[in-house]
Amino acid sequence: MNHAIEAMKPSASMVLMAKAKEMQKKDPTVIGLAGGEPDFNTPDRISMAAIRSLTEGNTHYVVGPGIPELRRAIAEKLRRENGVECDEGCVLVTPGGKNAIYIAVCAVLNHGEEAIILDPAWVSYEPIVQAAGGKAVKVKLDYRTDYRITREQLEAACSDKTRLLILNYPNNPTGRILHADEAEIVEQFMLAHPEVYVISDEIYEKLVYGERSVSIGSYKSVADRVITVNGFSKCAAMTGWRMGYLTAAKPVFDVIYRLYQHSLSCMSGFMQAGAVEVFNCEREMEEMRRIYEQRRDMFCGALNAIPGVRCTLPEGAFYAWVYFDIKGMNSAEMCEYLLENAGVVGMPGSAYGEDEACSMRFSFANSTEDLERAAAKITAALKALA
Ligand code: GLU
Repeated sequence: MNHAIEAMKPSASMVLMAKAKEMQKKDPTVIGLAGGEPDFNTPDRISMAAIRSLTEGNTHYVVGPGIPELRRAIAEKLRRENGVECDEGCVLVTPGGKNAIYIAVCAVLNHGEEAIILDPAWVSYEPIVQAAGGKAVKVKLDYRTDYRITREQLEAACSDKTRLLILNYPNNPTGRILHADEAEIVEQFMLAHPEVYVISDEIYEKLVYGERSVSIGSYKSVADRVITVNGFSKCAAMTGWRMGYLTAAKPVFDVIYRLYQHSLSCMSGFMQAGAVEVFNCEREMEEMRRIYEQRRDMFCGALNAIPGVRCTLPEGAFYAWVYFDIKGMNSAEMCEYLLENAGVVGMPGSAYGEDEACSMRFSFANSTEDLERAAAKITAALKALA
């Protein structure tokens, strides 16, 4: 067996999403807020375009990095909305953002080389780095400074083996966006370390509740070393489609595409035909974003009203990242307690590398009624503890 893969922890989000589904079979009142998955259906015109394409017989290999219409639409979007000078020839359509990250990490890292990951971080970055034979070096961002990136921390984590920095803004789980002053710190760091690449995972980009998050790929001085990853799962409620993409400068793209050819061949043509329609669904996506914003205000507001609970309003994504100061419990204990006593399944902060304070992540990409019920049940369960 491959030792690095054998030693990997299972994906905590997959485990807890499955657990919630299992519990709901016995008790339908259980509320699953563990996985970040929109409760909305994919807008109809996207699904209809895929169905049309499927029934027209678009069921063969689509040899290449993606269909031209989709790659063109993605490149135009990246130029227009993100300031990323992207050539459509360097757009790769992937099965979800997760696979884009996986093949990009494999393409960048040699065995034993290091990737810097900013904690708290999504559960899969470290295992992906390990699967690629690399070593994850964690930088612990501090909630007391609102998880600001500092040059000192990046430098302290950087060694002669560092080849990659993974960024994720809007951030899962903290909800922080990348502000221009921090992007400049990253730019300066990259200029000082010309052998370091950046993977910028921007999957929550459309889900912001104020300012937009800065795309590091828009910084011309370092753009040739930035791999920008995004997808349709979160913005267009398409998690089950597995439709993501990446773009990178041609020399980097070419290496990634080689691995793609050998591991995937190509993406499904009819699903890509559906995804083209995402670019005609701005109104529907904005409507979902607006509803997430209302849910954020309601759910985070309700949690903040509980003594000993603190939840900063996220600037982006759809997660409430919550700190508890209750009876000295740690995050795994709190997760278990709320699962047993409130019937609410969330994610323990420890899954994201927050192992000192007691924290949890709850997805508010759930129906408003479920979120209201969850807030009431969490409030009652914590009152019972007090
Ligand atoms: N990214 C989502 C989450 O953090 C889906 C699950 C996963 O990919 O880990 O919940």
